[in-house]
Amino acid sequence: MVCVDNFSTGTPSNIAALTSHTGFAVVESDVTEPLMISGQVDLLLHFACPASPADFLRHPIDTLKAGSLGTLHALDLACRTQAHFVLASTSEVYGDPQQHPQRESYWGNVNPIGPRSAYDEAKRFSEALTTAYRTSCGLKTAIVRLFNIYGPRMRADDGRVIPTFIQQALTHIPLTVAGDGSQTRSFCYIDDAVRGILALAASDHSGPVNIGNPTEITISTLAQLIKREARSPSPVHLIDRPQDDPQQRCPDISAARELLGWEPTVDLEEGIRETIRHQTRRHSLSSR
Ligand code: UDP
Repeated sequence: MVCVDNFSTGTPSNIAALTSHTGFAVVESDVTEPLMISGQVDLLLHFACPASPADFLRHPIDTLKAGSLGTLHALDLACRTQAHFVLASTSEVYGDPQQHPQRESYWGNVNPIGPRSAYDEAKRFSEALTTAYRTSCGLKTAIVRLFNIYGPRMRADDGRVIPTFIQQALTHIPLTVAGDGSQTRSFCYIDDAVRGILALAASDHSGPVNIGNPTEITISTLAQLIKREARSPSPVHLIDRPQDDPQQRCPDISAARELLGWEPTVDLEEGIRETIRHQTRRHSLSSR
């Protein structure tokens, strides 16, 4: 197994436990440069891209390059080695959706020149490129659309709502709810997501397949849940809503259920508790 990362948003400590395994290698490299991996490649999982709005808003050009040049280089490597190629796409391809819940057949409602366009359009381009390599070059490919995946090892300052609220709750500062908090998301625990991704990779389905948890929750309810689970006295503070922030998001996972026999098993309370445990441990280590 070869892990390619430029650690622009991740950290080597996340994979530290794997590096002692024989057969696991790390190549510090940027996918926007051609990928030079020697030997046979059986399965290529192309997940390289900033995924937090805070990161892709800060680095729009790098995000567009990861989705365009990065996907091109990854597909070229898959073609050279005849590897099965799996693309991590996103619920953001549906933009601010006008159909609910979102099925894979929905084409989405994306602002092509809005602040989120760097990520949304990069992923839509990645999907188009992946489809073209499948139909024109006969490459075996699959596309997974991930919906708000969370869990241990996200950066506390990642900017996404769950690690942000947890960090605020742990440090007893106000939880920053955007707008009136009535917008919804559907959060999927990492272990469930990994099972779904591997089920798709082991199948002959090209997708796209939604992988997410269909339990939908408002952001203000999420804030209360995290306060309760962290036993935090933090108040809630309303902040401005970001431009083009989707109002409602929830996956229709019928395809994953029918094609892959997959569905999530970790409920939000359990996943949040585990993420709080992990973030508390890291927080107390870093403040020693
Ligand atoms: N959000 C919030 N407070 C924060 C960070 C995010 O209320 O400190 C909101 C954000 O406006 C959005 C939702 O939480 O409505 C999910 O945001 P996130 O950045 O986690 O991911 P997104 O689903 O928008 O990509």
